[in-house]
Amino acid sequence: MRRLRALRPVEVDERGLDVVSFCGHCALPPAPVGSAAPSRVCGHCGLGLVLQASADLAPRRDEPFLVIDTTLSVCAVSAAAEDLLGIDETHAVNKHVADFLVPADANAPSAENLLALLVEVASGSGEPRSTVVRPRQEFGVRFKARIGPCGPPHAALLILS
Ligand SMILES: [Zn+2]
Repeated sequence: MRRLRALRPVEVDERGLDVVSFCGHCALPPAPVGSAAPSRVCGHCGLGLVLQASADLAPRRDEPFLVIDTTLSVCAVSAAAEDLLGIDETHAVNKHVADFLVPADANAPSAENLLALLVEVASGSGEPRSTVVRPRQEFGVRFKARIGPCGPPHAALLILS
């Protein structure tokens, strides 16, 4: 009996951590593909693009997240984030991230710092960082957020917890 073993290079980021793939909408890892070339569109929901991030950053299945590019535009909103924030991905994409999330603390870090951090991370540098944000329209709600690089292309992954 022949044993088939998938030969796949283990990918690591610049910090030497494993890189994992996940869907930008439903957060599931990509479906195993047969002989067909791997598609960048998620085989589970058919909506999200497959993204990669380091294993310590990538969202778990139930964690809401947003993907933000270097111009601070929203690139993707996960299904869980749509529910949590009451927004629809198709309406959120290409809007400014500050239309949806702002720093939870009015004093520090300032909005400029949050946005500067997102730009820096989206440019492809930096370790995952944590901050606290809130929905723009709501003052009583705050979420811890992990922010780190994902891609391709280079973008910032903001995971709410
Ligand atoms: Zn998906």
